[in-house]
Amino acid sequence: MSKRLFNFCAGPAALPEAVLKQAQAELLDWHGKGLSVMEMSHRSEEFTSVAETAEQDLRDLLSIPEDYRVLFLQGGASQQFAQIPLNFMPEGGSADYIDTGIWSAKAIEEASRYGHVNVAASAKAHDYFAIPGQNDWDLSDAASYVHYTPNETIGGLEFGWIPQVGDKPLIADMSSTILSRPLDVSKFGMIYAGAQKNIGPSGLVVVIVREDMLGEARSSCPTMLDYAIAAKNGSMYNTPPTFGWYLAGLIFKWLKEQGGLEAMERINNAKQHSLYQAIDTSELYSNPINPADRSWMNVPFRLADDRLDKPFLKGAEERGLLNLKGHRSVGGMRASIYNAVSQEAVDALVAYMAEFEKQQG
Ligand SMILES: *Cc1c(COP(=O)(O)O)cnc(C)c1O
Repeated sequence: MSKRLFNFCAGPAALPEAVLKQAQAELLDWHGKGLSVMEMSHRSEEFTSVAETAEQDLRDLLSIPEDYRVLFLQGGASQQFAQIPLNFMPEGGSADYIDTGIWSAKAIEEASRYGHVNVAASAKAHDYFAIPGQNDWDLSDAASYVHYTPNETIGGLEFGWIPQVGDKPLIADMSSTILSRPLDVSKFGMIYAGAQKNIGPSGLVVVIVREDMLGEARSSCPTMLDYAIAAKNGSMYNTPPTFGWYLAGLIFKWLKEQGGLEAMERINNAKQHSLYQAIDTSELYSNPINPADRSWMNVPFRLADDRLDKPFLKGAEERGLLNLKGHRSVGGMRASIYNAVSQEAVDALVAYMAEFEKQQG
């Protein structure tokens, strides 16, 4: 008998049990076709229907406007860090980036290889514990776009608002927050998200891009990295990650069954509320983030004494609460509570935190 434990991993993260079971049931024989999705031609009628249904379900969930293209690409979110300037920043050009933590810093570092990056605002002045208000942003006229990271997966800092950047395309790395609640896609030039947090298995990255932004890639841009070519070929310029695409499709169906993103917003709001409340009302645990900027998906917290980290993690594992160790650059703990992590899992964590605190006397 296998048993499923509570998994708080930051990524690759927990997937809904119902989806894993369906994938298991369909693994050997997909819809009576006598073969698995992994073994089908990506150009077959069968896979085409898998791919098109997944895209349509994602469009329904996020109400993606008609003039946006949805791409299912490879290389994770990290490849986008280079792909974005190659497509949208002309040779010798520049772009505005907002620095809110480790993931935006990586995007900045990579974009700097291709042109001038103006760091228009940085959370550094707040020790990365608060998001700099829009009034303090120094956007530049020369920028071809504005890039930001709505949810910093490691620091646990999240925008509760969408920046206003005039007529410049706004580009967002939504890897760890996409599909956690409704989103007005029309406010963005492009959204991208590595799949392994809220969409499916790693390796796949979903890109949602406004059609009029395509076709301006610099001539040195590799064919495989040109969004216009990907869009023209239905994300099948080469063989796409078919199994990841299929699993993403199962997740989108599951989200629809949960009641869509309004329902997910209610569930996720309740989850984050119980966890932050447990932290804030304790003497032992703390989270340093400005309350208005706290992440719903990634909740870092520290124990008052680092020497308690090991016993805390050991007790957690004994109770089936997995992957709570914080990122190596931050230390402490981190609970990632993505869509597939239930209120029941959060309640079990909160109960254990209280029990552990009581033990310390
Ligand atoms: C996980 C993550 C990434 C990196 O994703 P990869 O698929 O490993 O490249 C980038 N940005 C954010 C915000 C993330 O959470």
